Amino acid sequence: MKCTIVPYGNAGWSEKRRFMERLIASRPGPPFIYNEVLLLVPSSRMKRMYGRLFLDLVLQKGSSALVQPEIQTLHHFFEKLYSSLNGPRLMDENSRLVLLEGLVKERLINNSLFNQSPDLLAPSLSAAIARMIEQFSASGVGPDELLFKIRDADFFDKHQVKLLTEVYALYADLLEKRGLIDPAGMRAYLRDHFEPSWLADYSRIVIDGIQDASRVEADILRKMLDCGNCAYLLDAPSPNLLGHAGEFHPLRITKDFMSDIGLTPEEEIVGMNNDELFLAAALFSDRPFAEIIQNAPAPAQFSKTINLLSMVNTREEVSMIAGMVKQSLRNGVVPDSILVVFPALDEYGPLVEEIFNDYGIPYNRALGRQLSTSPVSTALISIFRSCQEDFSGPSLLRIFSSPFTKFSEDPAIAPALDKLMRVRRIAGGKDKLLSALAHLPAEDEGRDILYGPLVELFSVLVPFAEQAAIPLSVWMDRLDKLISWSGLAARVDKIHGPLNINLQAFKKLNDTLDSLNRAGMLFPEFTYTFNEWLFLLKRTFMHARFQVPPEDEGGVQILGIEESMGHPWKEVYLGGLVDTAFPRRLPQNIFLPEQALEAMSVRTIEKARLSAAYHFYRLLLSADVVTLTCPENEGDRPMAPSPFLQELTPLKKAGLLNRGIEKTSGIQFSLKLEESHSIPELAKALSQSANVKSIQHILNAGIKGLSGIRTAYEFKPAGPTLTIPQQKREFWITELDAYINCPYDYYITRVLGIEPLEEVTEDLTPMDRGSKVHSILRNFYLAWNRPITRETRDEALALLRKLANSAFDKEADTFRNRREKELFNSVMAERFLDAEEDFWKQGMKPAYLEQKIEEYRIVLSNGEEVGLSARIDRIDVDENGNFIVVDYKTGGYPSPKMGPEQDIFQLPVYAIMAQQALQDKDPRLGKPIGLAYYDLAGKTGGNARDVVLYNKEARNDHPTAKPKASPKSPEEFETILKQSMDKARKAVEGILAGDFSSKPQDENKCRYCPNEVMCEKKEP
Ligand code: SF4
Repeated sequence: MKCTIVPYGNAGWSEKRRFMERLIASRPGPPFIYNEVLLLVPSSRMKRMYGRLFLDLVLQKGSSALVQPEIQTLHHFFEKLYSSLNGPRLMDENSRLVLLEGLVKERLINNSLFNQSPDLLAPSLSAAIARMIEQFSASGVGPDELLFKIRDADFFDKHQVKLLTEVYALYADLLEKRGLIDPAGMRAYLRDHFEPSWLADYSRIVIDGIQDASRVEADILRKMLDCGNCAYLLDAPSPNLLGHAGEFHPLRITKDFMSDIGLTPEEEIVGMNNDELFLAAALFSDRPFAEIIQNAPAPAQFSKTINLLSMVNTREEVSMIAGMVKQSLRNGVVPDSILVVFPALDEYGPLVEEIFNDYGIPYNRALGRQLSTSPVSTALISIFRSCQEDFSGPSLLRIFSSPFTKFSEDPAIAPALDKLMRVRRIAGGKDKLLSALAHLPAEDEGRDILYGPLVELFSVLVPFAEQAAIPLSVWMDRLDKLISWSGLAARVDKIHGPLNINLQAFKKLNDTLDSLNRAGMLFPEFTYTFNEWLFLLKRTFMHARFQVPPEDEGGVQILGIEESMGHPWKEVYLGGLVDTAFPRRLPQNIFLPEQALEAMSVRTIEKARLSAAYHFYRLLLSADVVTLTCPENEGDRPMAPSPFLQELTPLKKAGLLNRGIEKTSGIQFSLKLEESHSIPELAKALSQSANVKSIQHILNAGIKGLSGIRTAYEFKPAGPTLTIPQQKREFWITELDAYINCPYDYYITRVLGIEPLEEVTEDLTPMDRGSKVHSILRNFYLAWNRPITRETRDEALALLRKLANSAFDKEADTFRNRREKELFNSVMAERFLDAEEDFWKQGMKPAYLEQKIEEYRIVLSNGEEVGLSARIDRIDVDENGNFIVVDYKTGGYPSPKMGPEQDIFQLPVYAIMAQQALQDKDPRLGKPIGLAYYDLAGKTGGNARDVVLYNKEARNDHPTAKPKASPKSPEEFETILKQSMDKARKAVEGILAGDFSSKPQDENKCRYCPNEVMCEKKEP
């Protein structure tokens, strides 16, 4: 059958609109009745979009008398067809999972497979088996066929393969015996019993945008097309490109699908302009870059705008997208025509909502939200968590402070409980709490406040303390009673306004619990312990999604990647383009090898990659302005960009990318007052500026959200008072370094001793890790007193690892701590030994380790003397006494600069102090000839030993990351040492004089400084 190929974006949408206009025109006048027309689309969003379009088109004809065509998603259409047949009863997804979990657990108990507890393995194994069975069913591979195809394979006897085949056979058997069918089986039933008469009610069938389907779905579609009277619309740049799509091209999915259902493109197609055609052919092309570039249009003539920008982290990324969107809205772009899309919307969603709200951008976030993230389900789960944790303090506080439980009527309960636990030094526990309450003096009001609620809670949860395994329906019945007791429904009803999203969550929660209840009734033979049941409940809440009401769909569209199909966009912002998220890295299949799966048309990993590539390709061609973004870091982890971004290389080389944009990486939001886009940004900019005069009229304008800032400015922070003891005469070089970095920060942290409260954790802090690494390297050279060579390296590595294991194994066994140990053993130890092998060839040796130097005297400008102290990681000396001061680094460090003015401060001061203090020691220190950092974590990417500054005439064979800035003439090197001692002197004088002004050495530090709310940074 012929199908119409329509391009992405506006040209394609106009063609679809014309198509529907022709359909409308089949009725000469009102009433416009089209209920004999069936329109099949891939998503509910497209369904609503077409509903609106039909209404608009009919209104244009001067009437609103419309009976809509039947617009359905494929899934709902199949369900509708099936409901009119006398097939087995259709069960839902939750029942399917419950059945599979029960079967897996049964097999594990009977066979003691894997020698593991069935309770531990069943949920995760059954989820994986459920996914596998779904894929086999969708590809039309039943249990017998599966067995037949793999019975001779060498992996057939593996435990997990046996489990899969047995469970699949039992599953199919049980469904048949009970007269049930699952969603995949329903499709197979439709295919096997297909009757053209099912479509007799439709005079016309239009299928739009369904570009891919499982093998069984494709079979049904083919049968539908054979009935005639169908029109098929497919999105692709051109029949030609579609026909030539190779094995790895994003259009291959569409091409394969067309051949599966027997579609051929019509000759005449809606055209794209030359720029779009060039782009469509350039992306994912197998032609050489040079050839693509040669055929590229001139940058000045290229009509599309494509930008690729990277920001320092995800918050900056979303802020930057929000800033650009806001600018477009100000320029008159209609909000609904702007698409903001993230492949991992669940992870980005909360941040996007927060920043778009701050920026005042009207938006609609689609894709639904996970039920498990809603406050309603969290309140419910926290009740059971407290039961699971024997009423631990935090879990009880969560219950008593939740707005969704009956206890929220009395706000005094949570503080009273908090006080009780602190005073009695208990961390919860039913018996401990009751005993503590019993010992409270009669006049203590906490007793009256807490006794009733605690006893009530304990007693209502008694049915959930049962240890035995009981049927799911019994648990669901108990849950039902608990929900009635909790007052959840009444509390949700009382919350109105912006929080009404809770009503949607509560509705979904009820639907989900009903579905679990049905599953329990269907399979009463499977039993659950409390922990298993709670796990099932949490897992089900995680998979259930609830949607905002459809009437909220206006505004900038924030969508998941697949939901953005079929709509014309003016601007597209595609963010979060990092490796592993896009394409999403899927775990390796644990049951069967990929080749075996491929032979049965189950191509999960490959298909996921191609599908992601298809959407990337489609989005780039769907709008005239496309901005692609990726964060460079997430938390403290550097991120790698998505491999798809490589496709833009020829565009970049042809000058078609980022036209007119100077800064394309390391982007951060502006902290200039006049460039603030939101109240939080303005507050941040103001806190760093102190120049509020120019915007006083804005502060006084009564704008919502500004009163807090205005009030804050009325209360000036107290200026530093002279709290430095005048008799302080000893200074550590590290504290002087802190003072030089920012005197105000020094005042807050070193004088007042104020530091942000750290979360209580068993993980090593960065500072702990640094000390550990320093002590391992010191102990290494205390035990190792010979050169490190290629021959001795393995021995040295073994010693280092032994020291590391003994140091790290003292810490708690947490994931992060294990990762830190692994990082040392696999990265730092290797980098260190690489550097040491080269270092020993230079004829130097580490002579002093963690050398403490005290009471180095300096004279201040008023003639007074003070002492300086330092601890130097290591000093390397040659046979003539020439020495290099070494500092080990697990994080970043300052780079050398051309000329004598340097940010590097501690190393040169150490050199002068060491020279004087150790001139008479053995080995004697003569002349300082270099200053070195050890970049252990590989921050600079070069050799670990980085001799950042050195006297190039003394010797010129040092490894260095900055080969131009590091070598200095003897005079320049001398000047650097001297200037740094002058800096130390000035820093001491500044501290003693109480000069704690807000003058950071590097302005960038202020962006992440916790003191910025307190300090009054002056404008430069
Ligand atoms: S915000 Fe800047 S000036 Fe203020 S204390 Fe921090 S680093 Fe210093």
